Amino acid sequence: MSMQIFGLHVSRGVAIGRAVLVASSRIDVAHYFIDVTQIDAEIARLRQARDRVGAELLALKRDLPEDAPQELAALMDVHLMLLHDESLEEAIRLWITERHYNAEWALTAQLDVLVRQFDEMEDEYLRERKADIEQVAERVLSALVATHERPRSAWSSAWSLGAGSGPDAGTEGPLVLIANDIAPADMLHFKRSVFTGFVTDVGGRNSHTAIVARSLDIPAVVGAREASRLIRQDDWVIIDGDAGLVIVDPSPIVLEEYVFRQRQGRLERERLSRIKHRSAVTLDGERVTLMANIEMPEDAQSAFEAGAEGVGLFRSEFLFMNRGGQLPDEEEQFEAYRAVVMAMKGMPVTIRTVDIGADKPLERLSNAELRHEHTLNPALGLRAIRWSLADPSMFRRQVRAILRAAVDGPVKLLFPMISRASEIRQTLDILKRCREQLRDAKVNYGDVEIGAMIEIPAATMILPVFLRHFDFVSLGTNDLIQYTLAIDRADEAVAHLYDPWHPAVLHQIERTIRLAREAGKGVSVCGEMAGDLEFTDLLLGMGLRSFSMHPTRVLSVKQRVLRADTSRLARMAGQIMEAEEPRSLAAVMSLDGGAGI
Ligand code: PEP
Ligand code: MG
Repeated sequence: MSMQIFGLHVSRGVAIGRAVLVASSRIDVAHYFIDVTQIDAEIARLRQARDRVGAELLALKRDLPEDAPQELAALMDVHLMLLHDESLEEAIRLWITERHYNAEWALTAQLDVLVRQFDEMEDEYLRERKADIEQVAERVLSALVATHERPRSAWSSAWSLGAGSGPDAGTEGPLVLIANDIAPADMLHFKRSVFTGFVTDVGGRNSHTAIVARSLDIPAVVGAREASRLIRQDDWVIIDGDAGLVIVDPSPIVLEEYVFRQRQGRLERERLSRIKHRSAVTLDGERVTLMANIEMPEDAQSAFEAGAEGVGLFRSEFLFMNRGGQLPDEEEQFEAYRAVVMAMKGMPVTIRTVDIGADKPLERLSNAELRHEHTLNPALGLRAIRWSLADPSMFRRQVRAILRAAVDGPVKLLFPMISRASEIRQTLDILKRCREQLRDAKVNYGDVEIGAMIEIPAATMILPVFLRHFDFVSLGTNDLIQYTLAIDRADEAVAHLYDPWHPAVLHQIERTIRLAREAGKGVSVCGEMAGDLEFTDLLLGMGLRSFSMHPTRVLSVKQRVLRADTSRLARMAGQIMEAEEPRSLAAVMSLDGGAGI
């Protein structure tokens, strides 16, 4: 029977496909389709891994100390029995032969089926056996990964395996991923993955997981609470990214409607591509700059292709994530930054120093795990510039790498989350020191403009201090909203209170734009509001002329700019700023674009 699940919309568009349920902890397991000719080899690989684990378990049992408790040996026997369970092996084999899943995926798919069955059992003793199955599966998974040339984190693409290896080659059709949660760093694998959309139980619209999804232009719904419990493996699912709706097992009529909408979306994109080479100039002749936000060096290519006029925010922290504590050294960073500079062919590249912390931990932890592990509030902790200043040698390595990359093209250096004069001073001291070090070592480096993210209310209040020290400021509205309203941007439970239209937020944005312009300093918005059509007119009316957003949003925002009359919008923005309920007034004036992203 058809079922609807409501969540939070993350990115536009519609995905239709069969559900693949993946446990959050196993999201980074390789998911790809194998060619029919590889089926036997894949099954053999699975057997090898099983035999290896069998030998390990026997050795463990043999080497148990004499005084070890009886239960330990019994436990080894249970694990050995599970390992050699024929029905289990057959079920895993079916995922490989029928679905063409790679062995790791087949194993975890079957594990998920079993875990659900165990969870539904009444008998507590049996329910607890779930842990045994999971432990055995983990061992086999490690053995599989050890025998494979693919990195564990490669969600190797079905698409890149060549003809006949995409989802259509299997029995599946398109696939969508359903998980309790996905860590931001795991999202990066999505780009080349087999999944065309995803749904998570947790997360807010401006969590970093959602932001990366938006940048990848994948239809997604987060905060869908019970989705991973209600949806079953292989259910047909429609993800309506515009409405934040998930439809499970849709009726033929509903399905037809969504197939139509998918086609409309494609046509709309084609239409928009016609304005790619036009400059973003309003009806009254105001020139607007539309830049791109990127997470990885490879994204620069899409930014360029989308017609962005530079990179307004390179979230460099994604280079630092999931590396088992091995942070990138100066050379590796230099190469990464240089690659972006080269890809943008003379257009400015704004590199933000690392913003690690809060919902972007160094190691992969889902939002749920983060909440569980940190009883303190990580969003208020050692994050961004605080983290960098706490480790000056790491910070200097990054700043030096950025200065060196500036030799090959215009680079702007942006610092996140600064809140006070002493942090400005320490940061600028480090910058000075880095220049001296490079000069002493006779290493080439370029001139950079320096800027600060304005994303904490304290920063907007003492903005003149920032404007004295920096060449430009960039409004991080995602955090500004979070810290102004005391709403965790990653928490779906309070997502309805995360309100960009709150007058306190709008006043800070307007004031920042006004003061920066009066001081003759650059000002842009690089938070999600910049790419959200709901706010384009309002921001133009407030005097903003520089926006940075996901590459996929550039053309839609450009279209809005081309139709705008800024003097009219300025008058309307003035009225909206005075309103108690700005959103309602904006809707009456049709200044809210009529829709979100
Ligand atoms: C912001 O806070 O608006 C921003 C652009 O930075 P991030 O989303 O990476 O915190
Ligand atoms: Mg921020």
